[in-house]
Amino acid sequence: MTDLLPPASGPHQTPGPSAEERADDVAVERAIELLRSVDLGLSDADAGRRELAGLLRSVAGAPRRADEDPDRRPRAAPDLADPAALPGIIENWSRAAGVPAMAFREDRRAFLRGDHLGFELSPRLLVRAAVRRLRKVGALPEEHRISLVWTGDQPSATLPVRIPDWTAVALPTRPVALSAQYVHHELGHVMELAWRPPDLPLAARWQAPDSVVEWVAMVVEWLSRCDDWLTALGLEAERARQVGEHCRYEDHYTRAFAALVLHCAGVRPERLERELKETVGELIDPGHLREEVRRADYWRTVAQGHARADATVDVLRAAHGARWWERPESWRRLRADVTAQWAATREAGER
Ligand SMILES: [Zn+2]
Repeated sequence: MTDLLPPASGPHQTPGPSAEERADDVAVERAIELLRSVDLGLSDADAGRRELAGLLRSVAGAPRRADEDPDRRPRAAPDLADPAALPGIIENWSRAAGVPAMAFREDRRAFLRGDHLGFELSPRLLVRAAVRRLRKVGALPEEHRISLVWTGDQPSATLPVRIPDWTAVALPTRPVALSAQYVHHELGHVMELAWRPPDLPLAARWQAPDSVVEWVAMVVEWLSRCDDWLTALGLEAERARQVGEHCRYEDHYTRAFAALVLHCAGVRPERLERELKETVGELIDPGHLREEVRRADYWRTVAQGHARADATVDVLRAAHGARWWERPESWRRLRADVTAQWAATREAGER
């Protein structure tokens, strides 16, 4: 496995699923469909479906929506990026990618995915290379089974099948630079599920605090911004640099966007548009911002996950050097920290 790019002759030729990759996991596909129908507020999302979606989301560790979790307590705000940095980030990013800055406003999602970059990155091959590597360094237990569900253009998602033995991951097949980011993020979720102590009672094993879940996912996501890691996965050096650069810009963007959403969540709805314009000019569509402000809890979890993962990477780098990720002791240490969280959760539950 040395080449993560699809063959030039057929851009969409990717190998068929291996024995480990069960593309026909109907239950997982239906679960994802359910989550999406509730998220999109489709008319068939009645109370029962909403309740089931809330349960599924809590099992996967993702943040619940306000209407699914009446016991939600306010959480402390993490250190945030500067939302006013957004226009500058897009400008520098466009320049680095060699596209006009207007490209972002014309099609934000295509820009973030990296559609304009002149190469493809196969998510299927990337998963194989990253899983192999993560197993090799002891981050992902050898015996942990992963089922992959390939979707069209749906957001990626991780759902446990059996904890801690078996996880399903849904990923879009589109071969874009950003796939490095979500492939690593989801593998972080897989790792955290695999690390949950098997001796915990079943119910406790299936309920994880968001703070722990997103923290581990974002430590692994950090690898998508590390050129040396990408090279170690088999990407040619210049391609690794391009993918790493794209993911680093996307990370700057996401952090500043999270800060913008959280800032605007505290603004009265009638002032929202003016506040948006004063902060970032015409860059962000007000309708898009209004939608995201409704998911402010999600963005708070993202910001907290980033802050915690940054601190972890700093510690691991100080202890084990710039290539901390190839040292099994780094992952052992992270796993011990995560497991300690579980012990604390268990004690709190017993008290
Ligand atoms: Zn996540």
